[in-house]
Amino acid sequence: MRQPMVAGNWKMNGSSSSVSELIEGIKAGVGAANAEVVVCPPYIYIPAVASAIAGSDIHLGAQNMCDQDSGAFTGEVAGPMLKDAGCEYVIIGHSERRAIYGESDEVTAVKYAAVLKNNLKPIFCIGESLEEREQGITEQVVARQIDAILDGSGVASLANAVLAYEPVWAIGTGKTATPEQAQEVHAFIRGKIAEQDAAIAEGLRILYGGSMNPGNAAELRSQPDIDGGLIGGASLKADDFLTICTAN
Ligand code: PEP
Repeated sequence: MRQPMVAGNWKMNGSSSSVSELIEGIKAGVGAANAEVVVCPPYIYIPAVASAIAGSDIHLGAQNMCDQDSGAFTGEVAGPMLKDAGCEYVIIGHSERRAIYGESDEVTAVKYAAVLKNNLKPIFCIGESLEEREQGITEQVVARQIDAILDGSGVASLANAVLAYEPVWAIGTGKTATPEQAQEVHAFIRGKIAEQDAAIAEGLRILYGGSMNPGNAAELRSQPDIDGGLIGGASLKADDFLTICTAN
């Protein structure tokens, strides 16, 4: 039985005061969640959030990570630093990193391996653009993105990872994949992993991301191969995020 997960990707939002208000709000309601709850603040607020959630049921993640452990990499943040700060998860391969910062499949695969090497757990994002969906190549695209990490780290690495299927056309746009569209791709992903290792595929959590909100979370979360959500915009309001965390 897979434990569902709902992870909030706060992206580059917030201030000391708004982050404090948000995390206190989530803390107040997390007891009712029917999922493992993860928050991924901007780097600079990770220590404050780590202190605020100490002793609670909230888990901590980062939104990105350098593939190197230390040294002359101006502006980067390393795995050992994230571990030291209390992180457990790291989002890798988010479509904004791929599209805006040019992270290729190769780069995401190297970062994925570095996250695992540091005893952190990747939340590895995959998903097709609108153009790719319209061309009918969604499955080829997600298969290629998954193959990058399978080739580099092997299928067994997925025992310590989470996948997030995030159609690019649904991220931050208010357009959500229908539960049927999302389930179809999730089932494809699980089937692809099962070709290599059925037990790993059965235990693998695959989150849906792309404009999941309090109104559509229950239906999306009820699909058999959808194990929760990676939430952007709706994770910035404690009430909305908690509604998604408790949806069933
Ligand atoms: C995301 O950025 O991972 C995401 C799913 O964003 P949103 O929920 O805002 O579409």
